[in-house]
Formats: sequence, C-alpha cells, structure tokens
Amino acid sequence: MFWADKVAEEVIKSGKYKPYWVDDMKTPSGFSHVGSMMGPVVHSMVYRALKDVGKEDTFTFVINDFDPADDLLPEVRGKYEKYLGMPLKLFPSPDPSFQSMGDMFAADFVGSIRNLGVEAEMLSSWELYHQGKFDEVIRLALDNAEKIQDIYQKVSGSRKKEAGWLPFQVICENCQKLGTTRVFAWDGEKVSYKCESNLVKWAVGCGYEGKISPFGGTGKLPWKVDWAAHWKVIGVTIEGAGKDHASKGGSYDIAMTICEEVFKYPHPFKLPYEFVLIGGKKMSSSKGLGLKAHDLVEILPPQLGRFLFARNGIRSQTNFDPVGTDAIPLLFDDYQKAADAYFDKGDEDSARAFELSQIGKIQKPPSVRFSVLAQWIQMPNMEEEIKKKGLEEWAKYARIWVERFAPDKDRFTVQKELPISARELSQKQKEFLRNIAKELDKKWEGEEFQTRIYDIGKELGLGGKDAFKAIYLSLIGKDHGPKAAWLILSLDKNFVEKRFNEV
Ligand SMILES: [Zn+2]
Repeated sequence: MFWADKVAEEVIKSGKYKPYWVDDMKTPSGFSHVGSMMGPVVHSMVYRALKDVGKEDTFTFVINDFDPADDLLPEVRGKYEKYLGMPLKLFPSPDPSFQSMGDMFAADFVGSIRNLGVEAEMLSSWELYHQGKFDEVIRLALDNAEKIQDIYQKVSGSRKKEAGWLPFQVICENCQKLGTTRVFAWDGEKVSYKCESNLVKWAVGCGYEGKISPFGGTGKLPWKVDWAAHWKVIGVTIEGAGKDHASKGGSYDIAMTICEEVFKYPHPFKLPYEFVLIGGKKMSSSKGLGLKAHDLVEILPPQLGRFLFARNGIRSQTNFDPVGTDAIPLLFDDYQKAADAYFDKGDEDSARAFELSQIGKIQKPPSVRFSVLAQWIQMPNMEEEIKKKGLEEWAKYARIWVERFAPDKDRFTVQKELPISARELSQKQKEFLRNIAKELDKKWEGEEFQTRIYDIGKELGLGGKDAFKAIYLSLIGKDHGPKAAWLILSLDKNFVEKRFNEV
C-alpha cells in the first residue's frame, strides 16, 4: 500500500483523530530551499488519501509570520540589520511591493507550494494572535510556566530550569523587537518585561522596561509552546514534522507533551518524515546558495515536482542531485513508468504515486523518453517533430536541463565547420560517409534510415561503433551523440551532403 494511504488508514483505524484536520507550518524568514517543499507535499498527499477513502478533512497551512527575524539575506545586510529581532510581520520589506519581509517570503513560498498543487487554506499566525484566538492558551501557558519547564526537562532531558522564566515574549513598545524581550513577571493580567541588549546573539534590544497585557497580539509564545498552542487553537489532529524536529526528545515530542498536559488537548497524529536531500555536496559548495523552492517551477513540471517528493515515501532519506547528472532524466523515466503502472493497472504503489502527483485532471505524460527529447531539442529542424508529438511542454524542461544541469556528454552542437576531430577518420569511414550522402535524397523515416545507415557500414566491413562514430565526429565533433538517423534527418540535406563529401 502506498505510504500516504497507509498513513490515512492508520489515522482512521485509531479513531482518535477526528475531525480529520491536517496542518503544516513554515516560518517565512528567507527564500526557502527546495527541500523544504517536502513537508507541504507530504501533508497534501495525506489530505488527499483521506479524501479518497471518503473522509471529510480539512487542510491548513500556518505561516509563522509572528516569529522574529533572526537572519538576513546577504544583499540586505547593513541597511536592515537594525531591524533584526522584530517580528517578520513588522520587519520592513526590501521589496516595496510587500508590506513586510514576512509577507515577501511568505508569498514566495506559498507560490512555490501552490505550483505543486498544495491546496491548503493559508493562515497567518500574526492574525490568529491579533484576533485574540490565542488569549486562552497564552493564559494557560503563563499560569503553567513551571510545568512547561518540567516538560522541557522531562522530554528532552537537557534544559536547566531558570527561576522566574515565563513562556512569553512581548513586542517591545519602544523598539518593536520581539526576539530581545524577556518577560519576568505575570500577575494574572499583565506581564512585565525588559528589552535586553544581549539576550540573543542576532539582535540588540533597547533596554526598555514595561508592563503590558499579553493578550490580543502584544506578544507570542516561544516556538515549541507556540506550536502546541496552534494545534489547540486551530483544532489540528494530524501534523507531521521533518526529521530535524522529530528526533526522540526533540521539539515535536516536547510540543506534543505540552499540548496534552498544559493545554489539555489531545496531541495530533504523529507523522515524522525524512527529507529528499537535494543537491548534495556539489550544489551547496559550488553554487553557494543551492536551489530554492521557487526554482523548481522552472526545472520540473508541477506533477513531477510532487512526484519527486512523494515517490520514495517518508521513511528513509533519499538524494536527488541534479547538477551534472542524469537525475532529472531518470526522474522523468520513473514518472513515465508510474504513469504506465496507473494506466495499465501495474504496480499499485507506483500507480498511486502517479495518481497523487496529479494536479487537477489526470494527465497522461508523453511516451518519448526525456533523454531523447533532450537530444531532439539540440538538433536543428526538430521543432516540427516536437510539435507533432505534443512535446512542447516537456521540451521546455529539456532545454533547461541541457543548459543548466546536463553532464557534458549529453550536450552537443552541430559544428558549422568540419571539426578538427574528423581528421582521425579512416579511409573506410570517409567512404561510408560519402555513401550515406548519396542516399540523402530519398524520403526517409527515422527507424528505416537508421537500419540503412547500419547496412551501409556493414557493406564496407565497418562495425556499428566505427560507423556511427564517423557520423558524430564529422557533425558534432564528439565520438558519441544522439541516434544518428534522426540527427542527420534533422539537418539541412545540402549541409550534410557537403559535410560528408568534404571529410
Ligand atoms: Zn526595545
């Protein structure tokens, strides 16, 4: 059974997670790495799997825009440094078309996951707090500060207890920073706080001391408490967590325990997942920034983007290293195989991975292999063929693969002048090319011409390898290339005739 269906089955069987409410969240603090789309896709798959067995369910996605900004894009360091520590929703946006930096990054990420068909209703944490929806959980957290510290200690086994610690941070009324304030007293109505200069390394507070009601959006809970609080406030019953948070005694466990013991709300269904590691070493070291979530839109059709994250399941980490490798063509191959499984009633898991990767109507992918298409787009005069076979959509991605990702062996250019490498051709190979030239005037189909080329070589006692090498060396200056007949037929007849006669 496909992993998402297994999750749905487990959820339903346990009977504990009703109403079915799937949720995921993300802090919009930068342009997200492409790997961060794993979570939204995993949740979308589970949401659909539940729907497919007839269960009514809801899917929300929380943008944690109340979180403080703790880092900056390299290009806006300097000028914006002074705002670090402010909630993302108050942090000025480097792009004037957005009201805040939080909005800017949120729009970027939401655009990327919408492209992958993630259908969640978007919620803003900032708004939930400001609508007063967190007031009850804020009171519970402040009243149970000791207990929360005990839970941190009990579950993670690390944190030392701090006398007077309170699980809340206020937006400083003087400098609007959140990350720098320490709440030190709670009288049941108001909290007392100080904006400290050295509470965190990444932001400097102003020293202001104040007293304020903690309700209605004046401040927020620290994140593990905040996470649990969201579950209760929204009514979440299923929320996954990536491996980084889901280790034993980690933040996921802590939040689950706070949820039950402090907020008295049953913890959501536990759904830890592993990541697809994208890029590997090559990408992070040589390109510095690596692929961003919004880059995937250009590299893969949306269905293949979903498929990339869904195909291997959530139990083990996998690698996808597209730079200078065949990873992308192989992903397309896998996708076509999964489509075959779906349409021909083959392997059930593959079929289901394909089905749940669709966005809207189920679309049958082209049958031409991506690697072949990547050759076609490098041949002149193949546009017609590409159009005729309905491959324009995939051709767009093939071009990008060839330009940005393909290993050198998969790139070729038909040479305008006779390549120097053609000098190494033997007499027999030259004769072979001249013999082909004589037959160019006939009306050829690809397969038939390929066979004829092979036979022409045989007639001269040339093996297939030497024969085809002659064609490649004289046209593209390499000893290998795409299927020779198609390559020749894609070129101007007179050009090939002249070339084969001039070797
Ligand atoms: Zn301050």
